[in-house]
Amino acid sequence: MPNLDSNIEFLKGVGPQRADTLKTELGIFTCRDLLFHFPFRYIDRTQFHRIRDVHHEGENVQLRGILRRLETMGEGKAKRLVGTLRDDSGIMELVWFRGVQWLEKSLQVGKEYIVFGRVSEFNGRLNIPHPEMEEANQETGQKAKNFDPVYPTTDKLTQKGLDAKGIRKLMRTLIDGLTASELPETMPDYLTRQFRLTSRLDALQKIHFPENQQELDGATRRLKFEELFFLQLRLLQIRTRRKDSFRGFVFSKIGAFFNDFYQKKLPFELTGAQKRVLKEIRSDLASGKHMNRLVQGDVGSGKTVVALMTMLMALDNGFQACMMAPTEILAQQHFEGITALVGDLGVNVGYLSGSVKGKKREAILAQLASGEMHILIGTHALIEEWVKFKNIGISVIDEQHRFGVEQRAKLWAKNPSGPPHVLVMTATPIPRTLAMTLYGDLDVSVIDELPPGRKPISTMHKTEHHRLRVQGFMKEEIAKGRQVYVVYPMIEETETMDLQNLMSGFEALSRDFPPPEYHISIVHGKMKPADKDFEMQRFLRKETQIMVATTVIEVGVNVPNASVMVIENAERFGLSQLHQLRGRVGRGADQSYCILLTSYKLSHEGRERIQTMVQTTDGFVIAEADLRLRGPGNIEGTQQSGMLRFLLADLARDGQMLAAAREVATQILEKDPALSLPEHGRLRQHLASEGRDARVWSRIS
Ligand code: ADP
Ligand code: MG
Repeated sequence: MPNLDSNIEFLKGVGPQRADTLKTELGIFTCRDLLFHFPFRYIDRTQFHRIRDVHHEGENVQLRGILRRLETMGEGKAKRLVGTLRDDSGIMELVWFRGVQWLEKSLQVGKEYIVFGRVSEFNGRLNIPHPEMEEANQETGQKAKNFDPVYPTTDKLTQKGLDAKGIRKLMRTLIDGLTASELPETMPDYLTRQFRLTSRLDALQKIHFPENQQELDGATRRLKFEELFFLQLRLLQIRTRRKDSFRGFVFSKIGAFFNDFYQKKLPFELTGAQKRVLKEIRSDLASGKHMNRLVQGDVGSGKTVVALMTMLMALDNGFQACMMAPTEILAQQHFEGITALVGDLGVNVGYLSGSVKGKKREAILAQLASGEMHILIGTHALIEEWVKFKNIGISVIDEQHRFGVEQRAKLWAKNPSGPPHVLVMTATPIPRTLAMTLYGDLDVSVIDELPPGRKPISTMHKTEHHRLRVQGFMKEEIAKGRQVYVVYPMIEETETMDLQNLMSGFEALSRDFPPPEYHISIVHGKMKPADKDFEMQRFLRKETQIMVATTVIEVGVNVPNASVMVIENAERFGLSQLHQLRGRVGRGADQSYCILLTSYKLSHEGRERIQTMVQTTDGFVIAEADLRLRGPGNIEGTQQSGMLRFLLADLARDGQMLAAAREVATQILEKDPALSLPEHGRLRQHLASEGRDARVWSRIS
């Protein structure tokens, strides 16, 4: 018997050829890899269902009943064999499209059968296509009923005899040879006791071959917990280490810049949430620790002013600050907004992007190097190597989901005497479970309150039939002096068609909203930055009343006079995108509207998305719904994250377990930061042995 780290080739029943295919098709190189190739479902034949209790399409059911009727129906391609099974609770239709003749001969009306299959729905009625049929007799009744794992496989593997059953056979061989010494416990006994977890060996055996649902549940729970717990332990360790090893600049005083701004310039009272978050930031900055803080706040919650006041704290302590935004439009808006806010306070604010060139650029770089420039605002050009500060103390990153983790690291290198503090801001509310995972190494602040006086945006769902009414409504709003966005989907895969769609929408609008009364702007990703900017400026200056655009306007753009957001093909957008888009309106004091246009027919999921939007404006509720509907891998900005590739855990469903795992991991590290206590020996060992995941970890640390 090979050990777990042996090449899979040496497992009985594999050999060189199958081993090659296992490697290329499933990434299974060793016996251990195979062990962690978990079933994706199980066939539970330990129980019988009563026909009356079968309600859902897709359910795997095992029935026991009498075959009451059997007849061929239809002609040619539609020819099929239809049977009726009856038990003491009801009847179920069985259908076969293949092997009709043979089945007709071998099945007998009046006999009792054990029937197994997957329920499907046809014309509103449930049936079972191609069920497995077994005559019910003494023998089948007595025979131990199985709970069989079904493994993911591929065509190429199937050709080599490794279909789901073939893999099951290999797994049996592997599991039967497993010993306790090869799969040592990874968690301290007090934890397995506290959470009533079965042993690691037991769990790994039973996740493959449970006797029944209960055993499977126990095994799954143990392995999920382990997955989540070690993830949290690592994240928290990284955070603790960084805090201990990096000295952060100390911003000990609150000085003239901050105070003058607060007393003389701030045009409104801060909300309670803004004050709280500023305090959290302030206590980080005064502590001597290196700050890495994520500020989450819904669209319009007022993150910009929090960022500005944080930067002023740096200035008061003799440091420079910078603020990065993901797009040129947004960066420019920040530049203009912040310049206006600080007014004549004597804060020197500069702007830099790839398109700032020549003499202008030189002047800015010179001021940065001399320290004359206090705050630099711009696009990711800021992190280029040629941008050198005299003494940068803090970087603010707006809308982080477009900035990678590597960029964060580049920022740290911007000051030779130490890493500047980092404040990350995002308007994409991240469900708590995701935040704990993706940003588990950051501290999190939440601005969970909107400035007073905002009227909730009224959201409506309309279909094609209502187009004329929607246009009438747009005209009414424009007559009141308001402006309107009309947004079209644009995704890479269907780009050409999407562009056509956008252009024909633009033309139709141009006909329905003709000059001289109406003027329309258009902005899409295929335009040159200068042209985009030109169109955007026209809209900002109210020279145009309608802005036709793709999602390029999604992030951060602020036109308070815009009160209507029309989203075309709204069913094609994800929830977080819809939420972001809707956030473009409702920024002024007027009642604003979001109109979601869709085709009449919608998928189930599409309908749920639209309904969620109509029902709530709470970004966190929407984010949770998004996570539930699409799963964590599809949430914007998380696609490349290796951290979300769980074997078993599911962030949409295992939130409670994740919170518990994080809680104990925190307690353990507080008590024993280096995991040097004897009872934590297993933890230490397991973390050290997990070297093969090192790639993911080096990216975030
Ligand atoms: P976001 O969080 O989406 O970046 P902004 O910072 O752009 O939001 O703020 C949205 C609008 O709300 C801006 O016009 C800003 O001036 C205003 N604002 C921010 N904080 C307050 C407040 N406490 N009271 C009133 N208005 C505020
Ligand atoms: Mg913003």
